[in-house]
Amino acid sequence: MNYFVDTKGYYGNYGGSFIPEMLYANIQELQDNYLQILESESFQKQYRELLTEYVGRPSPLYFAKRLSEKYNTNIYLKREDLNHTGAHKINNCVGQVLVAQHLNKKKIIAETGAGQHGVATATVCALMGLECIVFMGEVDVERQQPNVKRMEMLGAQVIPVKSGSKTLKDATNEAFRFWINNPDSFYIIGSVVGAHPYPDMVARLQSIISEEITWQLAEKIGRNYPDYIIACIGGGSNAIGAYYHFLNDTRVKLISVEAAGKGIDSGKSAATSILGSPGILHASKTLLMQTKDGQVTEPYSISAGLDYPGIGPVHAHLFETGRAIAQNATDDEALQAGFLLTRLEGIIPAIESAHALAALEKNTFKKDDIVVVNLSGRGDKDMGTYLKYKDVYLK
Ligand SMILES: *Cc1c(COP(=O)(O)O)cnc(C)c1O
Repeated sequence: MNYFVDTKGYYGNYGGSFIPEMLYANIQELQDNYLQILESESFQKQYRELLTEYVGRPSPLYFAKRLSEKYNTNIYLKREDLNHTGAHKINNCVGQVLVAQHLNKKKIIAETGAGQHGVATATVCALMGLECIVFMGEVDVERQQPNVKRMEMLGAQVIPVKSGSKTLKDATNEAFRFWINNPDSFYIIGSVVGAHPYPDMVARLQSIISEEITWQLAEKIGRNYPDYIIACIGGGSNAIGAYYHFLNDTRVKLISVEAAGKGIDSGKSAATSILGSPGILHASKTLLMQTKDGQVTEPYSISAGLDYPGIGPVHAHLFETGRAIAQNATDDEALQAGFLLTRLEGIIPAIESAHALAALEKNTFKKDDIVVVNLSGRGDKDMGTYLKYKDVYLK
């Protein structure tokens, strides 16, 4: 079984490149060049140096002693929350901005929903002195003001998109339109979604996570693989980053946790693998939540980063082949897990990452199992939400 992208840009039945004709040239340029750039010595040197000096890698693989005692097993947290800007997204943005430079692009564009990817993109553009334009639905601009201010402070131009439902998918459409008219710009996508080669490029740029887990475990326990890796899935970039070097090693069980929102059957959910069916979303074939006539269903999750109606094509393939196990956590279960980690370990996780932690409650591990949870981000951005529920969960 092959879990990596094939030469046509597919992961089994999923993936590909379903783009308007006007975008062929842009995508073709990237398809023709991305591997050569990513594997070149000059790219690797710049990328590795920035990850070390700027992002702060390697991120620790922390043995969570009190959490391990609670679940009677051995839990390690991969601390992506300690990266510069507070999550894994920066790994990808640092890499893509370097790819843009190798292609001589002068202008960076991105779309953002909650603003996390927009902030990471604006950050690397400030670092490189590149013009940055971020498309964001007007509704999201309203509800994510702190991130809008951050992007503006970093020098990015945030363009509120007024079409459609004024959220992420409309921002994506607008970014495509701009890209068609400005082929000298480079489009930085924030997860393992979009037309080939984006899912593969983003996966490779995030694979630094599993590369580090390999040698960090070897150092700590004398064995370079865990029994389980648990990660949350929005589009799936932190998850594939944590899985990448273990995809062909079936001793390692992969647990992907989707956001169930208010419950799978509540009509307010983002559990794509259960509620979704095959279709085209953001230029690739994957599983997505849709009506019978193929209209995308509005997803819901308490966490902005998981509030997405699809999953990356690689995850659709990993679920279909049984390589990864799809689980889910409700808003309630995630909040509970977030407060628990805070009080047991003194770490406030992003609400996205709290969904991964919630899986600890739903699985039974053996005493000597090695369980790695990918802590994709820190919870500073979620303080408003946590405080709202503080009295319910902290007694
Ligand atoms: C954006 C985000 C996610 C979800 O994106 P993936 O591509 O699925 O990783 C998860 N956690 C945090 C902290 C995020 O910012």
